[in-house]
Amino acid sequence: MRSASITINSAALTHNLTQVIKAIPEQTKILAMVKADAYGHGVKNCLSGLQQADGLGVACFTEAKQIRDLGWQKELVLIEGVFSQQEWAESIAAECQSIIHHQHQVEWAVNQLPQLDSPCRTVWLKLNTGMNRLGFEPEELVSVAQTLVDAGYKLILTSHFANADRPAHASNANQIKIFTEALQQLRSQVDANIKASLCNSAGIINFPECHFDWVRPGIMLYGSTPLDAISAKQLNLQPVMTFEASLMAIHNIAAGAPVGYGSRFVANRPIVKGIVSIGYGDGYPRVVDGSAWVSVQPFDDATHSNKNSSTANARMSYKCPVIGRVAMDMIAIDLTDVPNPSVGSKVTLWGDPKKGAPSVDDTASSAHTLGYELLCRVTQRPIRITQ
Ligand SMILES: *Cc1c(COP(=O)(O)O)cnc(C)c1O
Repeated sequence: MRSASITINSAALTHNLTQVIKAIPEQTKILAMVKADAYGHGVKNCLSGLQQADGLGVACFTEAKQIRDLGWQKELVLIEGVFSQQEWAESIAAECQSIIHHQHQVEWAVNQLPQLDSPCRTVWLKLNTGMNRLGFEPEELVSVAQTLVDAGYKLILTSHFANADRPAHASNANQIKIFTEALQQLRSQVDANIKASLCNSAGIINFPECHFDWVRPGIMLYGSTPLDAISAKQLNLQPVMTFEASLMAIHNIAAGAPVGYGSRFVANRPIVKGIVSIGYGDGYPRVVDGSAWVSVQPFDDATHSNKNSSTANARMSYKCPVIGRVAMDMIAIDLTDVPNPSVGSKVTLWGDPKKGAPSVDDTASSAHTLGYELLCRVTQRPIRITQ
């Protein structure tokens, strides 16, 4: 069988969630972000590792419905809000809270008030503090908030950072100032009990003074770094996803011979080349430059198996450059420095740097993108294994 797999480590997810818990005040709650099928990990594989979260955040009602059907009973928040009056009614039936970022959503909320004991009597009111993507302007905020409070809603003021990954960026201080002032104004003029939520992963790490009532970690839960300059390992985050395949062919290549589509790679010395059963059809990025590498774990000679190998052998892995173009189903790698490579040897595309694998952030950097995108773009083809 072609081997391509995604292994989800629930213990790593719990470990990363614990890092968030340790970083925030005791009374601050955690909305764990699981949009885009838990950043590509598969939300059903992640719920057990996220039991200590106070709520889950998703992009849309379809995602929320799936999570309710999986049995999640705590808070569930639609971070883009609903898209119609009908969806507002459905979200109330499924007990999902919504962000309200636009006037038409205010109207839907006022038109249909949930029961007094429904969690949907709380709405997340989005303020545009400078990212200029979604949300009300500071000038409109008091009147919108008053309308919602008069209708019977409780509010959580929320906003989103544009540059939280770079703490020194001037927009951060500006967004924090606008948010804090708006919150004070709402509490003094509309409702003293209005709550607040500003920080995503990078904000949680970089702006501890801004944790407020709810934090909204996403990427850090999955063990990829939210920061520009600090690795996941330095942040004591553990990778949740391990992306693996195996060697399906090995050949000797003469100096001067090209490899793969476009003959982009030409061997400048005789090399041993391996073909790995993984490609962009699985979610390995086609756009990687010459810096991309994978780790190869040769068979343990004693047992001729890398499943039952001893710990010492399990730790032995070799760094192999990706050579030539990434194809839909295959990549080529340089195996010259690997002693005794064999067909069937395990290849890790990304996983745990402590085990010699590239981190997803390493591969993302070779692909000129972020861990976020690579995680979300893993396709349905690799089989899913939950640990
Ligand atoms: C995705 C998202 C988050 C989580 O962001 P990370 O950078 O992954 O921590 C938080 N808040 C909102 C509104 C989001 O859309």
